[in-house]
Amino acid sequence: MTQHAFQTEVTQLLHLMIHSLYSERDIFLRELISNASDACDKLRFLSLTKPELSAGDSDLRIEVSADPEAKTLTLTDNGVGLTEAEAVEHLGTIAKSGTKAFFQKLSGDQVKDSNLIGQFGVGFYSSFMVADKVVVESRAATASSDAGVRWESTGDGSFATETISRAQRGTTITLHLKDDAKDFAQTWRLRELIKKYSDYVTYPVKLPKYVSDEDAKKGVKAELEQVNVGQPLWTRAKDEIADEQYQEFYKSACKMWDEPATRLHFTVEGTMSFTALLFVPGQRPMDLFDRDRKGLHLYVRRVFVMDDCKDLLPEYLRFMRGIVDSDDLPLNVSREILQQQDTVTKLRKQLVKRILDHLLKLASSNDEKDQQAFAAIDKNFGPILREGLVIDQDNKDRLARVARYRSTWTVGTPAPSEGDEAGGEAGGEKAEKRGETTGLEDYVRRMPAGQEKIYFSLASTLEAAKSSPHLEAFAKKGYEVLFFADPVDEWVVSHLTEFDKKPLANVAGASSDLTSEDDKKELAEKTKTYEGFLGYCKTALGDDVKEVRLTNRLTDSPCVLVDEDSGMNPQMEEMMRRMGQPVPPRQRTLELNAAHPLVERLQALHGTDATNAKLSGYVAVLRDQALLAEGGKLDDAAGFAKRVQDLLSSAIGGPAVQAAKG
Ligand code: ADP
Repeated sequence: MTQHAFQTEVTQLLHLMIHSLYSERDIFLRELISNASDACDKLRFLSLTKPELSAGDSDLRIEVSADPEAKTLTLTDNGVGLTEAEAVEHLGTIAKSGTKAFFQKLSGDQVKDSNLIGQFGVGFYSSFMVADKVVVESRAATASSDAGVRWESTGDGSFATETISRAQRGTTITLHLKDDAKDFAQTWRLRELIKKYSDYVTYPVKLPKYVSDEDAKKGVKAELEQVNVGQPLWTRAKDEIADEQYQEFYKSACKMWDEPATRLHFTVEGTMSFTALLFVPGQRPMDLFDRDRKGLHLYVRRVFVMDDCKDLLPEYLRFMRGIVDSDDLPLNVSREILQQQDTVTKLRKQLVKRILDHLLKLASSNDEKDQQAFAAIDKNFGPILREGLVIDQDNKDRLARVARYRSTWTVGTPAPSEGDEAGGEAGGEKAEKRGETTGLEDYVRRMPAGQEKIYFSLASTLEAAKSSPHLEAFAKKGYEVLFFADPVDEWVVSHLTEFDKKPLANVAGASSDLTSEDDKKELAEKTKTYEGFLGYCKTALGDDVKEVRLTNRLTDSPCVLVDEDSGMNPQMEEMMRRMGQPVPPRQRTLELNAAHPLVERLQALHGTDATNAKLSGYVAVLRDQALLAEGGKLDDAAGFAKRVQDLLSSAIGGPAVQAAKG
């Protein structure tokens, strides 16, 4: 026997598994049967080109038996098997994506961590939850009968292997059950678990038939009988499948641990024909941003061909799980060939269309469950879906309809104070139920007469988007403003320029949209009175601003910085800076709120004391805080801090501060 050390992560994992009381430990059987089924899949696939591999023993199956006296449980499959080198590698390390994420999440708190095991899925190693010793005997389909392997471990830091001879191909796993797990050596218990977790498995899962004590004494041997239904779940009619069966399939076939948010099960027939059973997870899978993320499993005419097939869906649907069973692809399709297949392109188109239509159906459903499902999907995957707006021209419209945003209208955002009066309850008479978020279609439906554009406030956080002073003018008009506050939205706005023939416009650059003729007249008159002061401000601020003018768009804020149409927004500038690109000096217009007491008082101060030395400092502070309010960065933060300090000390009237300065 050769001794080997487990990879550190495996040791850690085993330690956890053995010492934390994991509440759902009966899942170990599903894991082992699923591995056995995978091994059969692999052999079936290899046999397509090398029929000799399964010759003489082509009935692929999984046999489970138990010995209550000896407290052992044995699983045998006649799948692809393992060579000694493979046993050392596959049963001594963890190769799964997301492993790192798993270990980073471990907290040391037993209860929390054992929950995490449940979410993560630990395959073969889960056998150590119920066994204190595990023995694996295997022979690879390609190996001769004297090149089998025996692998054993008691789940501490090491395992041992040796070469054995083994007549039949495939793998036998024997679990020496712990005292508190001896239940699993009862055939009735195993039958129950197989029905519950492994009913869908393509291959027969067999158990010994019941033999009475009397018969047993007479030497009657138990025959094996198939326990699972065996037919792949997706080939059955939808109305014959119970919710629980779908969920078990999701857990076992897709190796997921949560409850799916929604599922789609459909068959397409015609120029191409395939069946798909797809799920949107209820939680964010850990590998969403991994390179070797998961994908759909591909079957061809019921034969498993490939797992984690990434070509079947675009990146922005990478959170989808499930299987596709195609009647059109060749069985011996490889990953490389798959990428060049015309059929795959068509298949992908159909899948995307179906998925997006399904999401739209959920979104517009009146059923509360559907609405909850959609809300969860949007929360977990909304920003990922929105990546599609940039990438997928063909489905732009569908994706735009799926996208959800918070806005000045949705729940949890203070309703614009004056907007409700000025614009009435936007959307008209019928009282609409406010949700957490809104879609563009609903936004457009609520647009009051006269509003031509869809307005959004773009910022790097929801708070910043909500507190933008630009919103005031829109609130005054009764115009709803969407909050684009996810990093992806910045990227999206340059691609989603209109929806439903209505242009999208950033509130920061859309000032002129709001002024009526009367407003303009009134403003022009006021501007005359303010002319001297405005000129003074422009001189004081110099090249920092292009122009200083009055506005009647603001209510609460004294001033705001506006971009003329081609201006870059602060987020784009920040991005260019981070990429090391030169940012063209920005010249923006400072608009002063003519009705704001602060502005009025400054103007008055200028009128009586035009040479007041402090005045230029006040104006600079005003400009700087406008920039801060919209989430921008000050070029001269130190200068700003100093000016604020001066303001504070004159407000407090502290001679000490003055003295210290001198
Ligand atoms: P996973 O199945 O998620 O890859 P496991 O820890 O369950 O992780 O198994 C590790 C590897 O061991 C499998 O990927 C497979 O290569 C191998 N393996 C496990 N069980 C069997 C089996 N019954 N027959 C052949 N290979 C197996």
